[in-house]
Amino acid sequence: MRKPMIAGNWKMNKTHAEAVALASSLKDSLADLKNIDLVVAPVFTALTSVASIVADSNIQMAAQNCYPADNGAYTGEISPLQLTDIGCSYCLVGHSERRQLFAETDPFINQKMKALLAAGILPILCIGETLEERESGKMFDILKQQIVDALENIDPQQAFEIVIAYEPVWAIGTGKTATSAQAEEVHLFIRDILCTLYGKTVSQQIRILYGGSVKPDNVDELMAQPNIDGALVGGASLKAEDFSRIAHFK
Ligand code: PEP
Repeated sequence: MRKPMIAGNWKMNKTHAEAVALASSLKDSLADLKNIDLVVAPVFTALTSVASIVADSNIQMAAQNCYPADNGAYTGEISPLQLTDIGCSYCLVGHSERRQLFAETDPFINQKMKALLAAGILPILCIGETLEERESGKMFDILKQQIVDALENIDPQQAFEIVIAYEPVWAIGTGKTATSAQAEEVHLFIRDILCTLYGKTVSQQIRILYGGSVKPDNVDELMAQPNIDGALVGGASLKAEDFSRIAHFK
């Protein structure tokens, strides 16, 4: 019932020319796919060019970040309105690299969520625990806090279109994937929290992606889980062949 989504987070990789080449290649290799949301998140400098390449394709574009204001004296930042203007449909929010390297807090993430929704961009909200949090038994409390804080004052009419990406921090860029059972356990937990916040119908509509070293050789098992609705892919999204195989999961 939920439409699957495969999203590629290119992070701070690719020159403009390389990003254009990757987008063109994906446009061809993903062209046969239907009934799936395919999303790429290039660096800001490549967004406009990638937008024109994917404009008449089944690929949508995400930004990797935004600042929660329409415009103004925020040197170096980009607003949700500016992202709408160049054709972004989605924006990543709360990625663990932004939480860890740029000290982004849950209240700030909530501001971004609301600003994006107001501008008509759907947030892909990333949450996840560190290895220490998992091993010390704090994982579920941490995840619950991240969700509840990020969704504060977001009503069900907006929430049902939000995408959540569960990305255990210990699995990002490490080659260590959560087992499909570990991922499914957390996805079910997330859906239960969403049910408490928004009720059963909305919680069943919200897509929950798994992220963390998703590769061609593990995607099929992950996608076979009932509460895993897609994948947020980092490293493997940088090669057209790998991302295409992931998007063609079985
Ligand atoms: C990510 O950064 O969102 C991610 C999932 O990265 P990787 O696939 O490289 O672990």
